[in-house]
Amino acid sequence: MTDPRRTLPSVSALLESAGVRALLHSTPRGVVVAAARDVVNRARDDASAIPADEREWAQAIAERVALVQRPSLRPVVNATGVVLHTNLGRAPLPAVALVAIARVAGGYSNLEYDLEAGARGSRYTHCAALLRELTGAEDALVVNNCAAALVLALNSTSDKKEAVLSRGELVEIGGSFRIHDIMAKSGARLREIGATNRAHVADYSRAVGVDTGAILKVHRSNFTQQGFVNDVDVRDIAPIAREHGLPIIHDLGSGLLIPLDEIGLTGEPTARMALDAGASIVVMSGDKLLGGPQAGIILGASRWLRAMRENPLARSYRVDKLTLAALEATLTLYREPAEARREIPTLALLGATLSTVRERAERAHQQLVSAGVECELVDTSANVGGGAFPLMQLPSVAIALAGDAERWASALRAGDPAVVGRVSEGYMLLDFRAVTDGVLDGLVSAVVAAHA
Ligand SMILES: *Cc1c(COP(=O)(O)O)cnc(C)c1O
Repeated sequence: MTDPRRTLPSVSALLESAGVRALLHSTPRGVVVAAARDVVNRARDDASAIPADEREWAQAIAERVALVQRPSLRPVVNATGVVLHTNLGRAPLPAVALVAIARVAGGYSNLEYDLEAGARGSRYTHCAALLRELTGAEDALVVNNCAAALVLALNSTSDKKEAVLSRGELVEIGGSFRIHDIMAKSGARLREIGATNRAHVADYSRAVGVDTGAILKVHRSNFTQQGFVNDVDVRDIAPIAREHGLPIIHDLGSGLLIPLDEIGLTGEPTARMALDAGASIVVMSGDKLLGGPQAGIILGASRWLRAMRENPLARSYRVDKLTLAALEATLTLYREPAEARREIPTLALLGATLSTVRERAERAHQQLVSAGVECELVDTSANVGGGAFPLMQLPSVAIALAGDAERWASALRAGDPAVVGRVSEGYMLLDFRAVTDGVLDGLVSAVVAAHA
C-alpha cells in the first residue's frame, strides 16, 4: 500500500477547488494560501490529519483561516473566582465608560485644546477637577498606571536623594514590580528603616536629614502581617515631614474612592482618608478597586504635582484619550456612591449577594444538565484579587464539571469565548462570582462545545 502522504494534493490544486475558491471571496489570498500550506504540511507530518475528500480539505483550510484571523486580544469569561484578575484585564468597564470611549475614539476631540481660549490646552485638565471633587485633593494628575505614577513621584521628589521606607513595606506587587527595583530606576536611593515586622516613629525621625527627598509609605495591598508587628501611621510621620519640608508619598495601590464597608470590605483606606492623614502625594491604580481603565492616579499638593507635570518623564507616561474618556465617565458615577456600587462592574461583582451568584450558577447548571453535561453545584470562596483585601473570602458558587479537569481546562481555553476557570482537587471549577449575566449564555455554549 502506498503511503497516503505521497499523494497529498498540491497547494495550487487546493486553491482551485470550489470550497477554497469561495473562501477567497472573503479572505485575503495570502491568508488562504498560508492556511492551505499549513494544512498540507500538517497532513504530511501526521497521516491521521489527512482530510478524506475535497470538501474536508476545504473545511480544514477554512478552520485554519478562521483561527489565524482571530484577533489576538479577545474576550474571556472569567470563571476563576478572582474578581480583579490582572491576567484577564482587571476591571471590566462600566457601560458609561464604553459610551464615552466610543464618543471620542472615532473622531477628533479637545484632548489638548482649550475650546474657550481657542488655544493649546492640556490633556491633564480632563479628570483633574472630578478627582479633586471626589477626594478633596488640591491637585490631580493621571498617567498610564500606578507603577508609572510611583516612578514619577519618586523621580520628581527624590532624584539622587534618599526616599525613606520601612522594611515591612519593601514589597513585591506582582512578577515585575518590586518596590526596590522601581525605586532604583526612579533615581531615588532607598533608605530602609525599621525591621521587617516593626517600625517606629523614631526610625523615621532618625533617618530623615539633608539627603532625604521623600518619605514613602506603601500599602500592603496583597499580604498582611500578624503577631509582633508595629506599623507607623502616616498621621504620625506627618509632623516629621512637615518639619523638614518633605513630601510623604503614599502608594495606595488599589485605589478606593468610597468605603466598601457596606459590602463587607473593610480596612482599606480611601484616597480621601490617605490625604486627610497627611500624605502629600497619593498614587493609585485606575483599574483595581476603582473599577475604571488602566491608569495611574496621582493626587496631592499642587506644589508637588506641578513638579511632576513639568518632569520630562511625565511625557513618556502620558495617558491616552481613550483612557481619559473611560476614567472621566467612571469617576462621574462616584458622585452618587450607590450608583457607583451598582454601575461599576467591579463593585457590583464584589457586592453581589450570595443568592445572586447562586441564582446565576443555577441557571447555567440547568442549561448544562439539559445539554447532557455532567456537573454539579458546589460552594466555594472567591477573592477580590488585584492585590486588594488579600485575606477576604467572598462566598461564591461554582459548577464542578465531571471528567478530566486538565482536559476540560485546555478545551475551555481554546473555545469561543474562551473560558478560564480553576482546577481544584482534581475538579474543573467554574466560579460564578465574576460571571455577569451578559456572559452567561456564552459560557454555557462554550462548555457545551468543549464537552462534545
Ligand atoms: C497594584 C499596585 C501597584 C501597581 O499598580 P499598576 O496600576 O498595576 O501599575 C503599585 N503599588 C501597589 C501598592 C499596588 O497594589
